[in-house]
Amino acid sequence: MWGPHFPVSVERIAMEYTTRFTDPVLKIVEADVPTFEGALYPLRKKGGWAILFNPTITSPGRINYTQAHELGHYFAHREHAPAGFECGQRDVLGEAGQAALRQQEREADEFASYLLMPLDDFRAQVASAAMSLDLLRHCADRYGVSYTAAALKWIEATERCAAVVVATNGFISWCRRSKAAERARIYYPSGMELPARSVAALGGTAQRNEGTVLPPGVWHSAAVREIAIFADRYEMTISLLVFDHDRMAGDGWQDEEVEDALDRFESSVAPRRIFD
Ligand SMILES: [Zn+2]
Repeated sequence: MWGPHFPVSVERIAMEYTTRFTDPVLKIVEADVPTFEGALYPLRKKGGWAILFNPTITSPGRINYTQAHELGHYFAHREHAPAGFECGQRDVLGEAGQAALRQQEREADEFASYLLMPLDDFRAQVASAAMSLDLLRHCADRYGVSYTAAALKWIEATERCAAVVVATNGFISWCRRSKAAERARIYYPSGMELPARSVAALGGTAQRNEGTVLPPGVWHSAAVREIAIFADRYEMTISLLVFDHDRMAGDGWQDEEVEDALDRFESSVAPRRIFD
């Protein structure tokens, strides 16, 4: 509705689109409080809602994402939450504290991800290029999101076997896997120590644009390419792991499947064409 303009203006969409409801978003304002990064509050007298965001979030990508996350709560959850929402850093980064709220936080994140990074445009940007820090930076700049948000979108979009592993102070907080990695049962549990020879554990000097190929036994029983991002502010590391061995096996298998299906289709259709 607003054309293919990137980064998407959450503020504009929120203010214009929600006027069709009786309780629209009436303002988006800064709120410098230590308890949350973003919030959705009811404005009872005016009969609408306010989206608040914490200006101490330094990265503009984080602010954009936080606003979009709150707009997601507005669309999906406001009727069930008359008191509104207060969301912290853990929520915005994909891990909510309380189990009961986890589903809603995940939905708000998903909304933000699709609003800011439409999948068709994202696929066009990434195409078949190898993932690298430069490519992540390009996506983060284009969509006005953090590297983490861009990396998670790639994990969702890619057919490759890959995972994002987020760690704090050397211990894994959470991981997100591509569909191929889920099928390969690759998983890194919360609380696990980062592998000692991983780029994330070795620190910023080990970081390379195209990532570092680590030998079998570091992250996995096979070689893994690790692209690491170091977020000093939260003592956090984000490792984008690409499992190259599985890509070859996976791609070969999928190509065969497609060809087989096409062959069968053509062989079953061809005789009918003659009769038609
Ligand atoms: Zn939230």
